Amino acid sequence: MTAKWVYRYDEVDEAESVAGDWEGVRELLGGKGANLGEMTRLGIPVPPGFVVTTEACNAYGEAGGLTDELWSEIEKSMIDLEQRTGKTFGDPNRPLLVACRSGAKFSMPGMMDTVLDIGLNDDVIAAWTKVEGQERFALDSYRRLIQMFGSVVLGVDDEHFEHVMAAARARRGVDADADLTPDELRDVIAEMRAVVERRGSGPMPSEPMAQLRMAIEAVFESWGGKRARDYRNASGIPHDLGTAVNIVTMVFGNSGPNSATGVAMSRNATTGEHHIEGDYLINAQGEDVVAGIRPTSPIDQLADEMPDSYRQFADIADRLERHFGDMQDMEFTIEDGHLWLLQTRSGKRTAQAAVRIAVEMAEEGLITRDQALLRVQPAQIDFFLHPQFTADAKAATTVLATGLNVSPGAATGEIAFDADTAEAWSKDGRRVLLVRQETRPDDVHGMLASAGILTSKGGRTSHAALVARQFGKPAVVGAAELDVDTSARMLTVAGQELHEGDWVSIDGTTGEVFAGELATEVPDLEDEWLSKLMGWADEVRRLGVRANADYPEDARTARAYGAEGIGLCRTEHMFFQPERLPIMQRMIMAESDAERSAAVWELLPFQRKDFAGLFRAMTGLPVIIRLLDPPLHEFLPSFEELIRTSADLHLRLTHAPDLTAAEELTTELREASTTLERVEVLRESNPMLGLRGCRLGIRIPELTRMQTRAMIEATIEVAREGAAPKPKIMIPLACHANEIEVQRQVIDDEARRVMADEGMEVEYEVGTMIEVPRAALTAEEIAWHADFFSFGTNDLTQATMAMSRDDAEPSFLVHYVADDILPDNPFATLDRSGVGRLMGIAVEDARRIEPEMEIGICGEHGGDPRSIALCHELGFDYVSCSPYRVPIARLAAAHAVLVARPTGPR
Ligand code: PEP
Ligand code: MG
Repeated sequence: MTAKWVYRYDEVDEAESVAGDWEGVRELLGGKGANLGEMTRLGIPVPPGFVVTTEACNAYGEAGGLTDELWSEIEKSMIDLEQRTGKTFGDPNRPLLVACRSGAKFSMPGMMDTVLDIGLNDDVIAAWTKVEGQERFALDSYRRLIQMFGSVVLGVDDEHFEHVMAAARARRGVDADADLTPDELRDVIAEMRAVVERRGSGPMPSEPMAQLRMAIEAVFESWGGKRARDYRNASGIPHDLGTAVNIVTMVFGNSGPNSATGVAMSRNATTGEHHIEGDYLINAQGEDVVAGIRPTSPIDQLADEMPDSYRQFADIADRLERHFGDMQDMEFTIEDGHLWLLQTRSGKRTAQAAVRIAVEMAEEGLITRDQALLRVQPAQIDFFLHPQFTADAKAATTVLATGLNVSPGAATGEIAFDADTAEAWSKDGRRVLLVRQETRPDDVHGMLASAGILTSKGGRTSHAALVARQFGKPAVVGAAELDVDTSARMLTVAGQELHEGDWVSIDGTTGEVFAGELATEVPDLEDEWLSKLMGWADEVRRLGVRANADYPEDARTARAYGAEGIGLCRTEHMFFQPERLPIMQRMIMAESDAERSAAVWELLPFQRKDFAGLFRAMTGLPVIIRLLDPPLHEFLPSFEELIRTSADLHLRLTHAPDLTAAEELTTELREASTTLERVEVLRESNPMLGLRGCRLGIRIPELTRMQTRAMIEATIEVAREGAAPKPKIMIPLACHANEIEVQRQVIDDEARRVMADEGMEVEYEVGTMIEVPRAALTAEEIAWHADFFSFGTNDLTQATMAMSRDDAEPSFLVHYVADDILPDNPFATLDRSGVGRLMGIAVEDARRIEPEMEIGICGEHGGDPRSIALCHELGFDYVSCSPYRVPIARLAAAHAVLVARPTGPR
């Protein structure tokens, strides 16, 4: 049997039996063609036409051109179309005109799209312009054909045609193309022809079948073109799908006052409200609506102007929604009172609309709840959690620079170049945006006081990014175009200078930076549709969702967003607070054990209070508290800074005006030198691989004892209040089972002592992070000593790939991803085959020893939907992420379950 290359729109049954199912039909006829066929099958008025299949496109590619067999099928289809329409291609009296439109399975920018009015030539125009009242319309159609054919088929840059139009408008002194007279249009046509002759890849044929053939060839060629290939590579669309070509009889919305053309969505694409939304124009052609040639009218008005057509359209919109189970984006034309649908497809929508439409469609019975959940992408939930710039505000400005979009939401404020200024201004009631080259732990107070954070250096897991996400502060980091000079209190970008106190705005969702104060609006997390959707997600998901939270305030936010506990409290963050940092520094600088011990125990009351706050906020839910993790030098001034200070003090001492000043400077210099000596001792070549994690607790067991005591005392205190604390102590960065065994001994001893002191028994667990490849590979040994595992995938990725995240992200990693050396940034989305494999091994080995072992993740990946899917597959119990990602994680966890049982509509 020879292949069938062409299907009429009324042959969709046959296409379905060949293709097997609806997916197959979409593959064979493309999205546009399949839906035009489906509408025809439903009895909805679609102009007669046919589809040249995607298989024909592939055959074209293989043969290097249209085969005789294919072309003869197209010729036959045209004869059939002439018979059905009673018009003839190229006949000056009753000309058949067609549109040629590409349509792949997935809509694809970068491909030739549409050529309208194929079939026009000088003979047809000569006859048509004589028809009463049609002259202008005929000439304008001809001009459009030459322009579209010239640009998409003959490869002339469209700007040359636009130039001709602009010149014609200027000659006449009008703004709109519609104001050009027939004679002027004749000039335009002549000039456009000249452009085609000069710049086109060949002459434009006047013979209609030749026009059609070249248009079809151009569509097929564009499928293999570079732009389309690049787009497919970027979006993972297979190259062998091919595109279909739709040949559709032209219908004219510009044939008089009883004609119109428009585009409409079956629901409001901005809010999701169930009400048809769109625009139309009386007496106009399709593209005029989009091109904004005349002001359009809102679709509601059609109900008054053409009530019958409106009713018919509304009815069709409803039927299409029910049929396709989704909000539809439709193009229509009314020709002399007769309504035609030219296209229908699923409509694009805002995040807010996506949620409402999905929920309402499920409630209206159009789709199931599972389908509703799959209709909303987890990342879309972000919209509800952060302020956004208004569309108007963004439209009215230009982007100053772009960085990494590390923490979503819009923020605007006066530039402050250091944390203290930010804090001081904020206390004065000013809105501040902290701008730094990069942030350090001692900037946290300024970050908290700011509306948002902007840095010129650093990557996705830089300090600024981590802290910003944790506190839900919008942030853009690594905006390398910014030259931030904090000492000059100024930043320079693209020749523009911004000074401290100037307004700047950042969009942490897109990574864009703007000068000035842009207007923002806050979406509503209490949104009734969102709450319903999240409730449905919770019923479906298997993974628990916890939050990474260090303070009671974060814990409360996290709980409000649905967190089921704390998966990681990084205790070191507590030590950076101003009243604690000096104690911490004393502990580090101590010259004797007694001095160190005194400092350590001075921290106890602070820690106890912190932990009690967390337990209260999370009563009844697990709270995982990690023992001190970072290298100690992070709590001290930097080596370089100290060198600078010492040099400065030396200089001032040499020029000291009197003895008292000299004495003071000498004391200062002595202190600086002592600190410097200690910092030098602590200095490591690779601090992230040095004395940190449980190595600290092993070297200074008193630290572990103090933290354990604080936790158990807080547990007892909160339990006595009647709440239900569930503490879980976590040992960081272990690489060997012995490390856990040793630390566990210290923890258990101290816990027993506290319980004896307090005369009360409480329960606690001791687990470990798995963030070193050796720990993952020896999970079986480690499992003997740990009650739970939590994957620290930030360090695990770093160690597995031998990439320091702070160094990789702002430099080579961007290129690695852009050049497809790596599929994703491994610090944002888990590297399945490497890090993921290690995780799989660890889970399997640990569960062999302890089948009930609780396993979770607390690295940044815990809030990333694709990484969450992997955790689900690996059988994790929960994921933990920053409080503001909790709702996203809840939906992603539901998706992970649902993709395993697809329920999508046809
Ligand atoms: C991790 O390594 O994934 C982790 C959570 O620890 P941190 O980011 O604090 O090193
Ligand atoms: Mg870590």
